[in-house]
Amino acid sequence: MKKSHLSLLFFILLVTACSGNPEKTIANLKTAIDTESTAVSKYNAFAIQAKRDSLFPIEALFKAVSKARSIHLQNHIAALASLGITDYPSNIAAYDVKSTTENLQAAIDEDTHEFTITYPGFIKDAKKENVKKAISSFTYAQKADKNHTRIFSYVLGNIKSPAVLAAVYYVCPECGNVFLGTTEKVCDICRTVSDKFIGHSASATLQDATSGATSRRMRE
Ligand SMILES: [Zn+2]
Repeated sequence: MKKSHLSLLFFILLVTACSGNPEKTIANLKTAIDTESTAVSKYNAFAIQAKRDSLFPIEALFKAVSKARSIHLQNHIAALASLGITDYPSNIAAYDVKSTTENLQAAIDEDTHEFTITYPGFIKDAKKENVKKAISSFTYAQKADKNHTRIFSYVLGNIKSPAVLAAVYYVCPECGNVFLGTTEKVCDICRTVSDKFIGHSASATLQDATSGATSRRMRE
């Protein structure tokens, strides 16, 4: 084969490789959509359990993280749509709801796995396949999950003294970062201004719970 023909063949192979479907990223986005859909449902169930356990600040936290995961989900759906796939259904896997202490540990384990293993692998594939929207949605989810894990660990460490825990948590609507208060002017992950953060509070205060318990004792 002539040298010029070889060069042409190499060029055609290169163009084909570059213009091919980003198959790994598409598969990873579908996996991430299922994972986030499950997390939205699961953390909402964990919030209901925390309310049952009268751990209202932890109810607020799980409500906020469920919202954060729904933001990751929407970002992944948008990234998949940018690749021409708009009809992918999200699948919710089975999960366990246990005591709030166990649920916090399960949340720490899951989010740690996601920010240390799952999302770094997905980001690597998306960079190789040059899918900018997926790089962005995976990076937001990875950084936010790391922060969620930090907050879950703090809360688990103080579960026996819930009065020291925050009663309201704020969620960045762009990246799903979660904040303990509104002291930050901008999100440290995506630079969204704090005016846009969404607040999540518990359905009752610890004081309400205490006075409820007091009135129950008085009736007895
Ligand atoms: Zn953000």
